[in-house]
Amino acid sequence: MSFIEMDHIRKSFGSLEVLKDVTLHVETGEVISIIGPSGSGKSTFLRCLCQLETINSGSIVVDGQTMVSTPEGSSRAVYAPAADVRTICRRMGMCFQHFNLFPHMTVLDNILEAPRIVKKMKTEEIMPKAEELLKKVGLWDKRDAYPSRLSGGQQQRVAIARALAMDPDIMLFDEPTSALDPELTGEVLRTIKQLADEHMTMIIVTHEMAFAKEVADRVIFMADGIIQEQGKPEDVFEHPQNERTQNFLKSML
Ligand code: ADP
Ligand code: MG
Repeated sequence: MSFIEMDHIRKSFGSLEVLKDVTLHVETGEVISIIGPSGSGKSTFLRCLCQLETINSGSIVVDGQTMVSTPEGSSRAVYAPAADVRTICRRMGMCFQHFNLFPHMTVLDNILEAPRIVKKMKTEEIMPKAEELLKKVGLWDKRDAYPSRLSGGQQQRVAIARALAMDPDIMLFDEPTSALDPELTGEVLRTIKQLADEHMTMIIVTHEMAFAKEVADRVIFMADGIIQEQGKPEDVFEHPQNERTQNFLKSML
């Protein structure tokens, strides 16, 4: 059994079918990059996994626990009780394009907030981990600063540390560098690469093709709500089989 099993996911917004029978299984420790044109359903797919969107049909099983499934013969997904869904989703750390740090809190308080509120931990219990994470992303010396004083790259690294503070089993990244000035993307990508080297399970939606190739164990090319092609980075980037993948990669040069 894989750590994440998403099977036959369908998702529509009104009459617009955005995910058309998407199946993806992710192994523990695996790093997956999802690439593809804008509007192809990449964000929606990630958002369905962490329950920011509900699916119409299909199933999602995380570490053997069913979050949602579709009974045989039915076309409608049935979710587990809300408390169970929340418990499952807490195992996922999310990091999106816009970092959404709490603006009225210092860097350190941003890190401490979720463990305090959600896990009911005391500050002194979380501090060693908070210090370790802020050192890891190179921002321990900025712990008393407010987000507005930081560069976009620094804010995104705080957002990564904040997600890691909840001890997730998988990290989901949705274009973590696309809101950044080009000179700031490297520091964020290096942080994510470091997580990959430590065998964090990750799904990374990115427009950074060189990074996708370098960091991923498997690359998924999505277009029109369908996984059109997937495989080892060398295969997908150097010998794409699908014409759409070929055209997309040409357009990214
Ligand atoms: P990507 O991340 O690959 O650019 P998205 O998943 O964001 O693609 O979007 C896929 C399609 O779904 C787009 O046509 C987008 O306009 C549409 N879409 C996304 N979210 C919503 C929503 N909340 N309501 C209606 N349409 C949406
Ligand atoms: Mg997107």
